[in-house]
Amino acid sequence: MSILVTGGAGFIGSNFVLDWLARSDEPVVTLDKLTYAGNLDNLSPLRADPRHAFVQGDIGDQALVRQLLDAHAPRALINFAAETHVDRSIADPGAFVQANIVGTFHLLEAVRAYWSTLDDGGKAAFRFVHVSTDEVYGSLDEDAPPFTEQTCYTPNSPYSASKAASDHLVRAYHQTYGLPVLTSNCSNNYGPRQFPEKLIPLVIHNAFAGQPLPIYGDGLQCRDWLYVADHCDAIRRMLDAGAPGATYNVGGWNERTNLEVVGLLCALLDELRPRADGLPYAAQIVHVPDRPGHDRRYAVDAARLRRELGWMPAETFESGIRKTVQWYLDHASWVANVASGAYRAATGKACGKPD
Ligand code: NAD
Repeated sequence: MSILVTGGAGFIGSNFVLDWLARSDEPVVTLDKLTYAGNLDNLSPLRADPRHAFVQGDIGDQALVRQLLDAHAPRALINFAAETHVDRSIADPGAFVQANIVGTFHLLEAVRAYWSTLDDGGKAAFRFVHVSTDEVYGSLDEDAPPFTEQTCYTPNSPYSASKAASDHLVRAYHQTYGLPVLTSNCSNNYGPRQFPEKLIPLVIHNAFAGQPLPIYGDGLQCRDWLYVADHCDAIRRMLDAGAPGATYNVGGWNERTNLEVVGLLCALLDELRPRADGLPYAAQIVHVPDRPGHDRRYAVDAARLRRELGWMPAETFESGIRKTVQWYLDHASWVANVASGAYRAATGKACGKPD
């Protein structure tokens, strides 16, 4: 038995692979294109681990995906691979259409071809887990109830529109071909190994570098936040006991404005590594023009996941954010390699057992 993880060198995917192999000996094959967001340093603890194989490649390469499926006969594929940064999707939407829509289509085709060769038991046991986002639901008014699995998709950015399209393709492969798929729609994740273009690692990085801490517009955009290990736990539960064809909202019941998040981070950094000049890190906050089409509020009702699969987040925002800041403090070389671009030098080198 093994699993195939796509996009496993990125933020959530690498946390998932590391958590998986910390809990079980079931081998993992990681397929990742190693875009700017893919970082082999994220998987460095597995460099000599015979349970892990890394393959550099594109989910859009049907022949490669089919070859990996035939060679390893995994019981499940968990798809984290995507272009993920909203600002980049505004600047270059085509890359998002290509990776998230066309890429997911090719991945589904390769999986469908492989799955159709399995016997009835293998077909029934196989799972395709698609990792998606709450952003597909669009923006909520201040007093509106949180998104449920029944909320209509109303994506507002090229990123969320491309994720929505991929979710629809995944759903269609279940309805049309019977492929046993599961989709998670999760809120904002934070934790170790997140590329410092996203709010929390960006603030930590800029704070230490003495650079401005940018806040879009008035900073009152509201997001639900979830510690990455809790998302990984939700995906494991979906894999174990989720109903094929189902979608599950994943969230932390933890809504915060961007201003609150940055304020909390600054207070923690003041405590854990005060500025040499004695000033608070909050002095580095600057407001910058708002992002076009910026969604005002996301909030997630994860009751289905709790009710049907017994999932609850283990971390509060306060405990999770403290662990996160401590991780970045303890991993200065990871941060330095990302900031300098040195992590890209590893691109192309495989880690884990050779295939
Ligand atoms: P990330 O940007 O950190 O990592 C994405 C990974 O996918 C990178 O390693 C990249 O190299 C790889 N990749 C990109 N295109 C690829 C392709 N065509 N073929 C193979 N690999 C490719 O992203 P993340 O934050 O870890 O997000 C993982 C998934 O979770 C995404 O699908 C994202 O939409 C979803 N998600 C993220 C969040 C969040 O807050 N980060 C929240 C909910 C859902």
